[in-house]
Amino acid sequence: MKYNRILLKLSGESLMGNVQYGIDPERLNQYAAEIKAVVEEGIEVAIVIGGGNIYRGVQAEESGIERVQGDYMGMLATVINGMALQSALERIGLFTRLMSGIKMEQVCEPFIRRRAIRHLEKGRIVIFGAGIGNPYFTTDSTASLRAIEIQADVVLKGTRVDGVYTADPEKDPSATRYSTLTFREAYEKNLNIMDMTAFTLCQENGLPVIVFDMNKPGNLLKILKGEKYGTLIQ
Ligand code: UDP
Repeated sequence: MKYNRILLKLSGESLMGNVQYGIDPERLNQYAAEIKAVVEEGIEVAIVIGGGNIYRGVQAEESGIERVQGDYMGMLATVINGMALQSALERIGLFTRLMSGIKMEQVCEPFIRRRAIRHLEKGRIVIFGAGIGNPYFTTDSTASLRAIEIQADVVLKGTRVDGVYTADPEKDPSATRYSTLTFREAYEKNLNIMDMTAFTLCQENGLPVIVFDMNKPGNLLKILKGEKYGTLIQ
């Protein structure tokens, strides 16, 4: 295996699958199966999940809600998604821990770095909920920060396209996919892979990022076996 400890970033929106709002159970179970295949290979898996299928802080101001309040609402949304994913993983026999950036003892553990690493060493899947626990950040920044903290080998950003393209492939049919990029190239070409905070954290700490299609069955495992799918940024 090319990587031993990974951080998988899943957006909240991807959990919507075929529904208009919230969580599509079919998609949830599909993701759980993909993750199981990886865990069975002995890879340590940490997951950061977004909340965009339920709430995003930037929406708040449109409805007269203060931005900071909206951001906390978005963080709580990620905990809901984390709980759903935790259940789906446990239903298929996996061991998990949900750790939150905001204390909520009745539903999950607080994030403690050493404890998170210990869970991973014991083969438990660790899901990081509530982002980093601070407003004005995103779950992409959370993914980069937590990956660095737990010394993950790579951030795998699961999306609905199979990598980074020269233009939006859903709008421009002539767009072509990059198989590899340096952080500098991605920045100079303005490729918008992650927000700048997340991007800078990865670049400064030499943490590679792979953007790949999470919806294609078997893709996650193939990438971890070193097969070239998606775009590697390093
Ligand atoms: N959020 C935040 N701090 C964090 C992580 C998330 O304030 O550390 C809020 C922010 O409002 C964001 C929302 O939670 O819009 C949901 O996360 P995100 O938009 O990153 O989810 P995704 O786009 O991946 O579904």
